[in-house]
Amino acid sequence: MYDVIILGAGPAGLSAAIYTGRAKLSTLVLESAMVGGNAGITDLIENYPGFPEGINGSELMALFMRQAENCGAEIRYEEALDLEPVTEGIKIKTSSGELQARAVLVATGARRKTLEVAGEQEYLGRGVSYCATCDGAFFKNCPVAVVGGGDSAVKEALYLSDIASQVYLIHRREEFRANRTHVERMRANSRIALKLNKVVETIEGDASGVKKMLLKDVVDGSTESLPVEGVFISVGMVPASGFVENRLTTKNKYIVVDDRLMTSMPGVFAAGDICSKNVRQVATAVGDGALAGVAITEYLKE
Ligand code: NAP
Repeated sequence: MYDVIILGAGPAGLSAAIYTGRAKLSTLVLESAMVGGNAGITDLIENYPGFPEGINGSELMALFMRQAENCGAEIRYEEALDLEPVTEGIKIKTSSGELQARAVLVATGARRKTLEVAGEQEYLGRGVSYCATCDGAFFKNCPVAVVGGGDSAVKEALYLSDIASQVYLIHRREEFRANRTHVERMRANSRIALKLNKVVETIEGDASGVKKMLLKDVVDGSTESLPVEGVFISVGMVPASGFVENRLTTKNKYIVVDDRLMTSMPGVFAAGDICSKNVRQVATAVGDGALAGVAITEYLKE
């Protein structure tokens, strides 16, 4: 029986663990994949205060983890599969058994969305990727494409421009969702060619991997074959809320919380990208984590 179990070791979960650990609550953080979440696989984080030159995401998340552990939090690699209220708190079913806590924080974040086009699954790991910082190095001096028009896509394109021979940024309209600084930097980069008003029809290749992709122009309907060896898909996120969808109130799969970040189940809180809200940044996830850590401490005192 722990005082608090935190699901997810990203910026929100680790920040909350720093607060609950310092409040002397026994704190267990469960992580199903990799500490740091999406921030941990970001090459350069430039808008997190305190690092005027920017910081590598994996380095920043290693610091978060060390700080959480220094504050007494235990981190364990185990996936949460379900949670239910019991007399003394919340029972969590995990990939290794059952755990119990007086309060739970869901900070499982969001995962990359798939494009759902022919060839995407077939060439996954053989040219198709969802993470340039993880897989970009395989495409040294090769032509690659990035799909999407948000901050992730633009940052992936910028990162790949130092590795690939040519980067195509494929976006389905002319305006970008990404912030203006990132877009301006991308437009000024001679190694990045923009393919606007285009959608991906198919990703094609042979036994050795991806060789080309077929694009369709959404304005005039024309098609174009683009020779690429890597396709990086960055078309947004889907919240990792499937395991609590039948337990907690959600909106478009994001968890609905009150102003103390408590969900519809008493004793269960949510923080970070998994919450229904407008801004999803490392800084806002950290803010959520701090708020949830304090709210949980007060809730357990009550
Ligand atoms: P996002 O902002 O939701 O952008 C997704 C992009 O993919 C949009 O441009 C969207 O096009 C496009 N898209 C979606 N579905 C598509 C489809 N089926 N086919 C083609 N294109 C499709 O997602 P994100 O870039 O992953 O960012 C998620 C959050 O993290 C955002 O809040 C973002 O600001 C934040 N973030 C911040 C930074 C940073 O450095 N500050 C870095 C990464 C992420 P439309 O625009 O036409 O809808």
